[in-house]
Amino acid sequence: MPDVSRRNRWLQSLGDGMRRHALVIRAVQWVVVLFYALLLMTPAMLPLPDSQARIVDNLTLLAQFLFWGIWWPFVLLSMVLFGRLWCGVLCPEGSLSEWASHYGKGLGVPRWLRWGGWPTLAFCLTTLYGQLISVYDYPQAALLILGGSTVAAVGVGLLFARGKRVWCRYLCPVSGVFALLARLAPVHFQVDEQRWIANAAPRLPPPNCAPLLDIRRLQGASHCHACGRCSGQRGAVQLIARSSNQEILQATAQSLSRWDARLLLFGVIGLAMGAFQWTASSWFVALKQTLAEWLIEHDVLWALEDNAPWWLLTHYPQLNDSFTWLDGFSIVVYLSLSSMLLGTALQILLHLSARLAQDRALYWPLALTLTPLGGAGLFLGLSATTVKLLRYEGLLLEWVQPARACLLLGAISWSLLLGWKRLGREHIVLARRVSGGVCLLLANGLVGFGWWLQFWG
Ligand code: SF4
Repeated sequence: MPDVSRRNRWLQSLGDGMRRHALVIRAVQWVVVLFYALLLMTPAMLPLPDSQARIVDNLTLLAQFLFWGIWWPFVLLSMVLFGRLWCGVLCPEGSLSEWASHYGKGLGVPRWLRWGGWPTLAFCLTTLYGQLISVYDYPQAALLILGGSTVAAVGVGLLFARGKRVWCRYLCPVSGVFALLARLAPVHFQVDEQRWIANAAPRLPPPNCAPLLDIRRLQGASHCHACGRCSGQRGAVQLIARSSNQEILQATAQSLSRWDARLLLFGVIGLAMGAFQWTASSWFVALKQTLAEWLIEHDVLWALEDNAPWWLLTHYPQLNDSFTWLDGFSIVVYLSLSSMLLGTALQILLHLSARLAQDRALYWPLALTLTPLGGAGLFLGLSATTVKLLRYEGLLLEWVQPARACLLLGAISWSLLLGWKRLGREHIVLARRVSGGVCLLLANGLVGFGWWLQFWG
C-alpha cells in the first residue's frame, strides 16, 4: 500500500504540474503542429522517389516512415499506456481545432452532430478511402486524407462552441478507436464526485475542458483527453494509477454506447483486418478474377481501364501502379465483406456467450473484452508498414515474426482473461461460465486465425 500511495502522489503532482505548466504544453502543441505540417506538405510537393531512393536520403520516404511507420502505431500504443494523453497534449488536429474555435462563430453543438455513430462511420469511410488511394504509399494521398481531416477539424472549430474541441469529441475518425483503447490505460484522471460536491471555496478557476466533458461526473479514461487542465479541481480530480482491466470489467450495458461494440467488432477488427490483408489475399485475387471474367463476358471493358484520377483510385502510371475501376470495386467489396462476415461472426459468438450467462445485456460489456485483441491487430497491421520500409533499407529484422506471435498471443490471453473475469462477475454456475468462456475462446480464436493467415498462413 505505501508504494501505491507514493506512486499516486507522484502521479498527482504530475497531473497538477500539467495544469500549472499549461503554457509549456501549448508551446509543445505548436511545435507538433509545425512538424506535422512540414511532414505532410513537403513530400507532396516533391517528385515521387525512384526505386533507388532510401529513407536516409529521401525526404518523401523519411516522411512516409515517420508517419506510418512510427507516428501512427505508437500513437495507438500510447492510448493503451497513457490514455488519451496524445489527444490532450500533442495532437496537432485537436490543437488547431481548439485554436480556430476561439475565433469562430461559437454556434452551439447541433443535435445531429452529437450522433454517436459519426466516429464509427468516419473511421470506416476513411479506412476504405485510404485503401483506394493507397494512403500509406503516396504523399499526395496522405495530404488529401490527413490534411482534409485537419481542414475539417478547423472548419468545425470555426463554426461551433468557442474554445472547445467539438471535432475531437464528436467527429474525429480515430476518436472512437482512441476511446476504446484508452479504457485499457493504467492511469487516468479520477473524479471523486462526493468530494467535488462537498468541497467549497477557495477553488481554482473553472477549467476549460475542451472535449466538453462533465468533469464532475467523469467516469473512466475513455473520453477524457488527459490534458490535466482540471487536475486538483475542488480537491476531487486526481491523476491516479489503476488496473488496466478495471474500466472494461466495470462496464455495463447501461454505461456503454452501442457504437463502442459496433466500432470494435465491425471496424477495428473486421474492416481493419480486410484493409491490412487484401494486398496479400488469394481470396481477393479470386474475387477480382471472377468479376473480371464476368465483365469480359458481358463486354463491360471500361471497368478494366485504369483512367480514374489519383484522388479517386490510385493512379501513378509512371510507377506502374494504377488501379482499374474493377480494382476499386473489388477493394470495396472485399473490405465490406471482411467487416460484415467477421463482425457478424463475432457478434453471434458474443450473443451466445451472453445467453449462456443468462443475461442478454451482457453482450455489450463482453464485446468490449476484445479490445486488447482489436488494438493489437491495429498495431500489427500498421507496424507491418514499419517492417516493410525497414526491410527495403536492408534490415533483416528476424525477430519480427516471434515478436508478432508474442504480441498476438499476449493480446488473446488478455482478452480471454477479461472475458472470463467479466463472466465471473455475474455469479453464474461454473458450467455456464465455462460454456460462455468457450464462445469467447472461439471469438478470440477466429480473430487470431485471421492474423495468423496474414503473417504466417
Ligand atoms: S476531464 Fe477534461 S479538462 Fe479534465 S483532464 Fe480530461 S479532458 Fe482535460
